[in-house]
Amino acid sequence: MTTADFADILAFALVRLAEEESLAQAAQAANPGRWYAGSGLDGWIDIACDDGALANDSDERGAVEAAAAQHAVRQQPAATLARVAALRALLALHEESGVVPGFCRHDTHPSPCLTLHHVAAIWSWHPDYRTEWKL
Ligand SMILES: [Zn+2]
Repeated sequence: MTTADFADILAFALVRLAEEESLAQAAQAANPGRWYAGSGLDGWIDIACDDGALANDSDERGAVEAAAAQHAVRQQPAATLARVAALRALLALHEESGVVPGFCRHDTHPSPCLTLHHVAAIWSWHPDYRTEWKL
């Protein structure tokens, strides 16, 4: 890998994080407050936020399966925004060293280090993800 590889994998991850941040901010604006899974019948669960229902049996939005409801609630905008901030900090920690070009400034492994590869792999399903980044 080269400095160009480092720049490419870092840019890929930062763009994905910006996309997730933008979606979370839009979801948060549309459905403010904390999201939670409500009660439901026959394994179907309502999802609600402090501002009202996101999905429930009483209207055309419908309830969702219990595991999907719990998963959706854990992906709520506040959690996503916190995860984006944490991953940005992690990426910054593992930037290429200005002192020793070609190596991670944190773990001194060749850059891009394994941490960057692991973070980028979050979006291995994305069409811009390169197979050579896979560990
Ligand atoms: Zn590193």
